[in-house]
Amino acid sequence: MPSVHVVGSVNLDLVATAARLPAPGETVGGARLARHPGGKGANQALAAARLGAEVTFTAAVGRDPEAAAAIALLEAASGLALDVHRVDEPTGVALIAVDGDGENQIVVAPGANAALATSHLPEVIDADALLAQLEVPLATVDAALRRATGLRCLNAAPADHGAAALLTHCDCVIVNETERAALGSALTGFDGLVVTTLGAAGAVAHRGGRRLAASPPLVDVVDTVGAGDAFCGALVTELAGGADLERALAMAVTAGALATERPGAQPSLPTRADVEARCPSPC
Ligand code: ADP
Repeated sequence: MPSVHVVGSVNLDLVATAARLPAPGETVGGARLARHPGGKGANQALAAARLGAEVTFTAAVGRDPEAAAAIALLEAASGLALDVHRVDEPTGVALIAVDGDGENQIVVAPGANAALATSHLPEVIDADALLAQLEVPLATVDAALRRATGLRCLNAAPADHGAAALLTHCDCVIVNETERAALGSALTGFDGLVVTTLGAAGAVAHRGGRRLAASPPLVDVVDTVGAGDAFCGALVTELAGGADLERALAMAVTAGALATERPGAQPSLPTRADVEARCPSPC
């Protein structure tokens, strides 16, 4: 099985579900609270481990009770080694308000994620692939990409214009349409693999002059939380394992689609067996 090193965020998602979302200055009562582990880095590390990769995850959390809840599912996962640093900032928290229609408002307090520094990274990141996102400082992501010996993949999310400067050290960039727009003309001169996810329409990959598209299987969508992270974890695991682009893309769109069939981010991430059972040809 391939080795994948993920560098990224850990959050505790505090989700309050209410009849409606508050207007500025307003208080809405009667909500139901749930706490879920999250963060793009944590979700993608777990997604890759569920697909069978040998994963190492470098991240930062606080010295607070939230840290244990935030990394609980990662600790319980097999094939996932944690390189999690305790720092003097609170564990990252996402405050999420959801109404009866599933519409949401999110405020993120990055806390410890913003304190993940270059000094926390291994001197050499010796894995078949590195996967990073943009919920930790750009300088740390830049250093991780430079220290990686294998395939260097960046999920340029959330959208950040500063990511353009990182492309020189990437072999593979994964974006949705908003994130792609934030990279602007920087992608024009990029000669690596660019994969754009398109929600229910699947994904399209460009490399050199070649274009390849893949559609997900039909799914009963419950919520799309974690779909993009499932996609990234699966794509990078497949590429790291030597799969051709066609198979990697088919596995990734299937993993993303299956993550929409169950609620939440981490509990909804599919296993390799789940994905292979539902993957349309050519898996
Ligand atoms: P993000 O949430 O990062 O914007 P997308 O919404 O593009 O990412 O979703 C990532 C992947 O998840 C898609 O490429 C697709 O495979 C799958 N996916 C997302 N939404 C749906 C959906 N409604 N139906 C089927 N598959 C979906």
